[in-house]
Amino acid sequence: MSFTIDVEDIRTSNDQQYRVRLNVDRVLAWLHDRGVVGTAFVVGTLAESDPSLVRAIVDAGHEVGLHSWSHTAIEKHTPSDFGRDIKKGRELLQNISQQPVSGFRAPFMSMTARTPWAPDLIADAGFMYSSSVLPAASPLFGLPGAPKTPFLWESGLLELPCPVTRIGPLTIPFLGGTYIRLLPRVITIGALRRQDKDSVMWTYCHPWDFDTEERFRRYPETGFVTSILCFRGRRRMFPQLGAIINDLDCSSLSEIAASLLAPSATRLDVFSMTARNAA
Ligand SMILES: [Zn+2]
Repeated sequence: MSFTIDVEDIRTSNDQQYRVRLNVDRVLAWLHDRGVVGTAFVVGTLAESDPSLVRAIVDAGHEVGLHSWSHTAIEKHTPSDFGRDIKKGRELLQNISQQPVSGFRAPFMSMTARTPWAPDLIADAGFMYSSSVLPAASPLFGLPGAPKTPFLWESGLLELPCPVTRIGPLTIPFLGGTYIRLLPRVITIGALRRQDKDSVMWTYCHPWDFDTEERFRRYPETGFVTSILCFRGRRRMFPQLGAIINDLDCSSLSEIAASLLAPSATRLDVFSMTARNAA
């Protein structure tokens, strides 16, 4: 399992304190103590306003990927705007980090049947892999019917779908920060043990998942209950991660992606959204 974090600044006003750096530093220290290397997907506008944040992540030995330019769901873009924004974001991260940037993660896992043009544009922008698909029905964004194990888009872009598990009638992305904080540990560990051997497990935490001092407030574009869920259990975040640390690999997602794409690796299936839409 790979540790990944989506680094975004969700303040709604500049009057609110900038707390991203504080929380990312906590996470970097925790990973360093355990010798874990992970991947941080950083929003372009945040990297532009705080390039030292990107350098701190890279200097600590982690991979940096792009979490979109402005943290807007893919379907709210035109294809040309989306393509331009992710090229700009990738160039910016490469300039700051002085490293190739090969991974893309859509905000809110918003690669869906409504954006069949997105995988081509992500490949076109130079990314090797994406981790942008929730392979289940969801009230927000999901792509039910997509494989739960790594697959290729027609463009050759590798997709590492969001890990999911079934709990009763629900299929949930159980390695998201909110789920890690709130689910009983036995459920998380049990779900990890049941995963298909070909699936790639990754967490998707956020800086605020680790923020035990932030005062409660309504988060943008979310209801009151969702905001409460974003705050509950933050003190449990590091202990919960510690409980599954033995399953945490020391590999970044780009290392895992490179091994899946190696000539000696088993060929991956190709999944087409357009063929699926036409069917
Ligand atoms: Zn995000």
